[in-house]
Amino acid sequence: MTLEKDFTQDVIDRIKKYQVVDKMEEVGTVSYIGDGIAFCKGLDQAMYGEMVEFMDGTIGMVQNLEDNQVGIIIFGSYEHIHEGDIVHRLYKTMEVPVGSALLGRVVDSLGRPIDDLGPIESISFRPVEAPAPGIMERQSVKKPLQTGIKAIDSLVPIGRGQRELIIGDRKTGKTSLAIDTILNQRGKDMICIYVAIGQKESTVKNIVKTLNNYQALPYTIVMTASASKPAPMLYIAPYAATAMAEEFMYQGKHVLIIYDDLSKQAAAYREMSLLLKRPPGREAYPGDIFYLHSRLLERSAKLSDELGGGSITSLPIVETQAGDISAYIPTNVISITDGQIFLQSDLFFSGVRPAINAGLSVSRVGGSAQLKAMKQVSGTLRLDLASYRELEAFSSFGSDIDEMTARQLNRGQRIVEVLKQPLHHPVRAGVQIVNFFALSHGFYDDIPLNLIQEFELELTDHLERNEMTLLKNLENNQAISDEEALQEILSNVSRSFKLSHNLSVEAGSDE
Ligand code: ATP
Ligand code: MG
Repeated sequence: MTLEKDFTQDVIDRIKKYQVVDKMEEVGTVSYIGDGIAFCKGLDQAMYGEMVEFMDGTIGMVQNLEDNQVGIIIFGSYEHIHEGDIVHRLYKTMEVPVGSALLGRVVDSLGRPIDDLGPIESISFRPVEAPAPGIMERQSVKKPLQTGIKAIDSLVPIGRGQRELIIGDRKTGKTSLAIDTILNQRGKDMICIYVAIGQKESTVKNIVKTLNNYQALPYTIVMTASASKPAPMLYIAPYAATAMAEEFMYQGKHVLIIYDDLSKQAAAYREMSLLLKRPPGREAYPGDIFYLHSRLLERSAKLSDELGGGSITSLPIVETQAGDISAYIPTNVISITDGQIFLQSDLFFSGVRPAINAGLSVSRVGGSAQLKAMKQVSGTLRLDLASYRELEAFSSFGSDIDEMTARQLNRGQRIVEVLKQPLHHPVRAGVQIVNFFALSHGFYDDIPLNLIQEFELELTDHLERNEMTLLKNLENNQAISDEEALQEILSNVSRSFKLSHNLSVEAGSDE
């Protein structure tokens, strides 16, 4: 009996040993290292997207699966990795820390803190690449995301869950639009993530400073993969940040994420792909360059009510060369997103800031999410603006214009003036609505151009002092029902403004 038991025990022990042998870690050796990538032999079982660790603790991710080797991208400096070094599999796909501990922090592409605020106590992780929500898990965009930027909220409204591209040449105010949108989310139920890809470190520092100055940091995560970092860090950043956003979205919260910018990410991906010896295609980008951005932007969504109704709204940024929006990467991203805000250099330099080209900018889904009152007042704005641009070009040839044209020109100039907005001065939706109402009902027509901004300030001041209920009602999606009351308010403000500026008072204001 005992002998039999001993024998059984012996067999069990041996089997256990076999399991240990079976589980033995698979390691490989580095056969080539350079420029942020490595080729390794011996990792025959490694999967695409799996994390690996080099001997000095540097993390890599398996990208190419070839016959007798794998191509690995390296997240960090590769100076301490040498040919012949051991590489360990980590048996998990690439993941980053997620959760609210990241709010108010500046992190790198792997979610590691790079501010001086100590370690991040994060308890959960999410995979960097995740499938986008399916059609049944979504609902259509129906709640607005107020950017606080007059030209956007009126002409190209953005809804929660939408993807709206910001596109333009260098130094046309792309980043500023995005940052001002973050500033406007203060006190609203919106979490913001700003992803800086290939920017200068000093630029990102200034952005963090601005966010801090306007108390926007507590609800914001800043992720940066600066221009000096290896290409894989730039490539992975937007996916990692989206994983952080998804954690909040699946908790039923609302997230605004800004990818600044995807042209630089595409360039990093091209560099990485060429080093990994993938075949180059058009403009030397690899064949899956469209998939690079489509799988990223598909992850922005408005979830169904059963899933909590959370949302990710994304504002990808793309840089153009000499205003060419028909280049390769711009057309790709335009076709993926739900609209674009096109910023134009000549507008910017002529002092129209934000330099939004109203003719080329569209929002395909945001209209259904726009506040009712905003919709009422902004309807004619786009048309008035477009006809003004046409007339403007035409009237510069001759001086003889009829009264009707003169009136249109006069109105157009005032629209352009009202849509101008200084940096970091978001305007609340209620004030915007009353402002556009004033525009379309002629209250601006007899104010000299150089006093437009002053009038606007006075009107804002008056509304915030005396008409708080009206503003709140408009912001709570009430339509303008009592036009006469609104006209009355505007007439009073207009009269006192004109008196204090020695302008004639009798000009009419009812159209
Ligand atoms: P880059 O190509 O370098 O990324 P960008 O398109 O992101 O540039 P910004 O950095 O946002 O442009 O802005 C360029 C400059 O224009 C900045 O100095 C900024 O202060 C100024 N600027 C942007 N928007 C406005 C505005 N509405 N009013 C006044 N100045 C502005
Ligand atoms: Mg920028």
